[in-house]
Amino acid sequence: MTAAEPTTESEIEEEESAVETARRQLERAAAHLDVDEGIVERLRHPTSVYRVTIPLERDDGTREMFTGYRAHHDSVRGPYKGGLRYHPAVNEEECVGLSMWMTWKCAVMDLPFGGAKGGVVVDPKELSSDEKERLTRRFAEELRPVIGPKTDIPAPDMGTDPKTMAWFMDAYSMQEGETEPGVVTGKPPVIGGSYGREKAPGRSVGIITEEAIDYYDWDITDTTVAVQGFGSVGANAARYLDDLGASIVAVSDIDGAIYDPDGFDTNDVEDHDETPGMVSGYADAQSLSNEELLELDVDVLIPAAIGNVLTGENARRVQADMIVEGANGPTTSTAGQIFEERDIPVIPDILANAGGVTVSYFEWLQDINRRSWRLERVHEELQTEMLRAWEGVRDEYDTRDITWRDAAYIVALERIAEAHDARGLWP
Ligand code: NAD
Repeated sequence: MTAAEPTTESEIEEEESAVETARRQLERAAAHLDVDEGIVERLRHPTSVYRVTIPLERDDGTREMFTGYRAHHDSVRGPYKGGLRYHPAVNEEECVGLSMWMTWKCAVMDLPFGGAKGGVVVDPKELSSDEKERLTRRFAEELRPVIGPKTDIPAPDMGTDPKTMAWFMDAYSMQEGETEPGVVTGKPPVIGGSYGREKAPGRSVGIITEEAIDYYDWDITDTTVAVQGFGSVGANAARYLDDLGASIVAVSDIDGAIYDPDGFDTNDVEDHDETPGMVSGYADAQSLSNEELLELDVDVLIPAAIGNVLTGENARRVQADMIVEGANGPTTSTAGQIFEERDIPVIPDILANAGGVTVSYFEWLQDINRRSWRLERVHEELQTEMLRAWEGVRDEYDTRDITWRDAAYIVALERIAEAHDARGLWP
């Protein structure tokens, strides 16, 4: 072994990029299916990656150039769909990897979309609101040839929000000469956004956790839950499960965790958007670190903050009986292998938090039909879609000796491969 070679599990896992993870998952799923190798090879690569330069006039009159990307992975099942992130670490490879992830997520939910991802290499906290608006409008213009309600429909992601989507939609519409609400999702409801969109990823985590608890014949009113990251996904998942009678014994934000073995009233703890710092500043509870929360002896652990928190370093100390992924990619592949060895089920992100893209699909349908759905209808239809997807994945899990993650990828790949097979290759 040379000095440069990785020596520990955590060093090994740091070497894997989003693309490598996405390709490895594709290969694991393909090994269980009789899929044409030509189709698998096609899915290892994006269809296209666009790189654009965005000139921005800063508030002080100077000009600065920013780089933006949009990766298209696969559109055999429908238009490309995926977020736009504004973050200094955005790069081409990450966009490609995340676009592949979106292909699997849309397919596991059986939505008529393929995967895309994009963003701008920028720290949005260093932009004024006016600068962010100008950057967004120019980015929309640069991407205009490759996006559209029937071709590629962006959505918010890290560093972007409903307001960003409103500017993006407006810029696109002004050049098209007509209002095109269906060009992006995650807009404010007043211009065609869907009710229930913001809470949908957390709600879907709650729905899937409820089904998984039922699958293992646990009683939800006897179930203890720890949630890392009491933000949009974490707080909504925790409140959903709290309403069903589960005991939410620990929650956290970036500054730390709070623990009460008797369970919190989750409506009493304010989430990150409501009051930043409220979780770690909560008085009536024991304080813990985020690392300690992940290792609590609970029935269900929901990592809902950031990626790569369950690693080769801590996976053997995790005491939860089940993990439901609220965040995208919280479990590294090394940790995944350890949980597999230890028989700890991990319900994967592409299923659990897919409520976001599912309600984005509802938003797109509402925009195309120029008809808004009531919140109750959004909730009902989300429940139906989540249960349908859960049942598809559960059937694969029951038939084969595999992990929940492999089961979800197999469902997704089977649908994508069948569509490729049915359409054939042009020309
Ligand atoms: P958010 O910003 O609303 O909340 C994030 C929470 O995590 C906050 O409580 C924050 O304090 C905490 N946090 C941040 N950094 C942390 C760290 N280093 N350690 C511990 N806690 C930390 O974000 P969100 O929208 O809830 O997203 C959370 C995760 O879910 C992300 O991985 C995101 O990609 C994923 N996700 C979000 C959506 C969505 O539409 N919001 C959809 C699918 C997946």
